[in-house]
Amino acid sequence: MRNHGIGSWTRRRSRKNPRRVALVHHDTRITYGQLHDRTVRLAHHLRHLGVRRGDRIAYLGPNHPAYLETMFATSLLGAVFVPLNTRLAEPELRQCLSDSGSLVLVHSPVFAAFADACGVIRRVSVDASYERALAGAETTEIDEHVSGDDLAMIMYTSGTTGRAKGAMLTHANVIWNCHNMLVDMDFASDEVTLLSAPLFHTACLNVACLPTLLKGGTVVLEETFSPSRTLDLIEEHAVTAMFGVPTMFQQIAAEERFDRADFSSMRFLMCGAAPVPLALIETYQQRGLILLQGYGMTEASAGIAVLDSEHAVAKVGSAGLPQFYTDVRVVDAAGRDTAPGERGELLVEGPSVIPGYWGLPAETLAAFTDGWLRSGDVAVRDDDGYLTIVDRIKDMIISGGENIYPAEVENALYQHSAVADCAVIGVPDEQWGEVGRAVVVRARGEAATAEDILSFLEGRLARYKIPKSVVFTDALPRSGVGKLLKPLIRKTYGTLSSSGTTA
Ligand code: ATP
Repeated sequence: MRNHGIGSWTRRRSRKNPRRVALVHHDTRITYGQLHDRTVRLAHHLRHLGVRRGDRIAYLGPNHPAYLETMFATSLLGAVFVPLNTRLAEPELRQCLSDSGSLVLVHSPVFAAFADACGVIRRVSVDASYERALAGAETTEIDEHVSGDDLAMIMYTSGTTGRAKGAMLTHANVIWNCHNMLVDMDFASDEVTLLSAPLFHTACLNVACLPTLLKGGTVVLEETFSPSRTLDLIEEHAVTAMFGVPTMFQQIAAEERFDRADFSSMRFLMCGAAPVPLALIETYQQRGLILLQGYGMTEASAGIAVLDSEHAVAKVGSAGLPQFYTDVRVVDAAGRDTAPGERGELLVEGPSVIPGYWGLPAETLAAFTDGWLRSGDVAVRDDDGYLTIVDRIKDMIISGGENIYPAEVENALYQHSAVADCAVIGVPDEQWGEVGRAVVVRARGEAATAEDILSFLEGRLARYKIPKSVVFTDALPRSGVGKLLKPLIRKTYGTLSSSGTTA
């Protein structure tokens, strides 16, 4: 066989363990043998629709076995998988479809009206007709030549910092990232990984799902996240691994039965994709659970650094060491390597780093310095090389010439029991140029005032880092994977009067 890409995985695994369960979705269990059979049938169906090597196939829908079947079938044909973010507005989805030039849209029934309207002629709806198409499709093996350099996916970055860009992930990028995960996280062949974060996000797909499938473990798929159902599923399926973003773990910890829930099967809880508050890690530690922090980005096919369980307590708050095959540098504004303890921009190099953005040569050029990917994040390394992610450069506040990193201030705010959620933004100030403002969601039943919250920060943070005002709100806008939408928050809360505290 000449397929060395991820599209060959179902065949390779079904050759070894055909009866092992690959996917669980509600009452449906799909073994590796069945997954391979369904993948081959779907690939024939896609071929019948005209799909050839290099064509792009978009998927729009929540987590579902058809998601992974489409990804494997696409890869089997040497075509390119384009997972779409279900939370995008219709014009944004149209933009991703036309930017990628997708030939076929595979979608869940809830997106039928959008699919009708968006003008993609070739469509596959994941309903009864999908099962009929598979049942009627050919089953002969497909032997398309696919090498590591061929494109496996175009993943649109979440666009929290501007226009979504199509990150081009080659098969080699995805496979090297999986190797990093297998080496650093010790994924086992009997892993049962629960995924209720969306698969269209690189962290869920590449950090947790694909390493589990490469190893021959079981993935439990949920389309929506519910903290109480998560606790049920952990017990029901004896889940051993779970990936989630900080807000998900916060909601699980807020469940009334969190203290009684049975986590005895759990080997690792992976948390990342956004700053992980220290208070959250400590809440889990008090419960005897280790929340491992991972740091990554779409452009690195997911993982850049991860803290292993051995160092989870000693290096709490750190995102760990660079992944096995990944190298990093922390550089100052002049591009010089910083000393341990000094902050600077994190640069990344390694075989999981993408070659560039789809159709955007200028943005690709700007993203790299001498072959190193510019992460746009500020980080600091300790004497042992452990990385702490400080914040995004773009979110930094400059107040009277001092740099304030909102994530650090948010971390301190989370330690106040009245703070359920928060965001710190910069607002214009005549004297200091810019000052910090905290936008706070109070925990249920809490009545803390702005003064209470600001005085809590005295002594915990340097004076210049303490926000000058507090605005209370009911909810903060977050992206599909729980990232604070800082541009929107700045727009909504940054223009209110900045004089004094606002309760
Ligand atoms: P866009 O670039 O379009 O705004 P995005 O950056 O949200 O999209 P992703 O690749 O999903 O796209 O996210 C990567 C970013 O997420 C990192 O650059 C970093 O800012 C943030 N991030 C990921 N993990 C962590 C972590 N453990 N701590 C702090 N920030 C993190």
